[in-house]
Amino acid sequence: MGSGQVTDWQGKNVTVAGLGVSGVPAAKVLHGLGAKVTVVNDGDDPRAREQAAELEALGVTVRLGDGATLPEGTELIVTAPGWKPDKPLFAAADAAGVPVWGDVELAWRLRKPGAAPWLAVTGTNGKTTTVQMLASILKAAGLRTAAVGNIGVSLLDAVLGEEEYDVLAVELSSYQLHWAPSLRAHSAAVLNLAPDHLDWHGSMEAYARDKGRIYEGNRVACVYNVADKATEDLVREADVEEGCRAVGFTLGTPGPSQLGVVEGILVDRAFVENRQKNAQELAEVSDVTPPAPHNIANALAAAALARAYGVPASAVRDGLRAFTPDAHRIAHVADVDGVAYIDDSKATNTHAAEASLAAYESIVWIAGGLAKGATFDELVAGSAKRLRGAVLIGRDRALIREALARHAPEVPVVDLDRTDTGAMLRAVQEARRLARPGDTVLLAPACASMDMFANYNKRGDAFAQAVRELGA
Ligand code: ADP
Repeated sequence: MGSGQVTDWQGKNVTVAGLGVSGVPAAKVLHGLGAKVTVVNDGDDPRAREQAAELEALGVTVRLGDGATLPEGTELIVTAPGWKPDKPLFAAADAAGVPVWGDVELAWRLRKPGAAPWLAVTGTNGKTTTVQMLASILKAAGLRTAAVGNIGVSLLDAVLGEEEYDVLAVELSSYQLHWAPSLRAHSAAVLNLAPDHLDWHGSMEAYARDKGRIYEGNRVACVYNVADKATEDLVREADVEEGCRAVGFTLGTPGPSQLGVVEGILVDRAFVENRQKNAQELAEVSDVTPPAPHNIANALAAAALARAYGVPASAVRDGLRAFTPDAHRIAHVADVDGVAYIDDSKATNTHAAEASLAAYESIVWIAGGLAKGATFDELVAGSAKRLRGAVLIGRDRALIREALARHAPEVPVVDLDRTDTGAMLRAVQEARRLARPGDTVLLAPACASMDMFANYNKRGDAFAQAVRELGA
């Protein structure tokens, strides 16, 4: 199992690590190709048994309750991206010289000859939005494409399905990149880099290194964020194809080989002739929804990748106009008594919340939940002057309260000492009390939701429901 395409799977002993969203389809595909597949899974719960029964009926071997032991004769491991690299299974694989591929690597290796190239996006925040914007732009250019990865179509389906594509807009997480050593994108972007998932990667350096893999072997452009030097450093360290260019995006005036903003216009000084002198207008800031600064950055990154693929400027504009963001990402819920209520429940870490807080002038901030080891000093200090007030919910709210006391002592804070799901209604009522006409009540929790809700969608729904009750 070197680095090339594997064409003969007949009788190959493949171990799939982990049932679940990537494991079950991977096992089926490999089995269908003729491999001898064994699935190993740590858990042995009713859901796992159900999935195991389905696979066993096909002839796949499944071992529940033991994800640590390397099955005898394994020639390749295909792992769920979330499995931590320090698991004993991988140490055993390493000792035995057995390669480990993630779901992305598998999809990459199974591409058909002449298959659609990948335009790839990673970053701590903004991946889904950027990939969807990119797909929208590519479609506006008349190309057959899809947004794939953690969203919409799965990578395996995109690569193996009936549907034919010219080019794919691919979202990749740091976990997936860790396990995708031979992936070579046409062009790729790292949107930003902030500490996240460090428990998994072990250190910020390791996290950055995994994100940086997205640039390896790029053919046309490595797109980086001018405002985030770490992303540019990753471009410099990458081994790319001869002639591949570094292209920056910036919210300021772009230099040569950059895309940026001039007087409300998104402009391209990278994919134009004579970029020392010329610039191409792409779209207006008002073509981007919502026109928050971080979202303009996402639009510029999407535009850069599309332009690297050769898309005309008019398609960038049409694609951005046609794009609507997914739910719970700076979604405007309603105006009540001159106050705007915005749901950014997807802001599950401090970096994301910082971007949303930067988008409004005077904010009543609803925040809190599970902090996942984060600290809030930088976020609160940077946003203090925009805060009219704060309403704190969730298990780790004391961490935010303390940061507010340190950096914004004059900001009124309501600390809701309850984590039942009804707490959101109270939070919205308290926020209304604090808000004045012209303010924004912003749900940007900077925390995960699972202490109070099933997921961030449910948290955002509860917020929207509470706002509707206010207006009623
Ligand atoms: P991801 O797929 O990386 O989680 P999303 O596009 O779903 O990203 O956006 C997640 C959240 O991150 C949004 O709700 C918003 O608060 C924030 N966000 C989006 N784009 C950016 C960006 N470029 N920089 C910082 N935060 C962002």
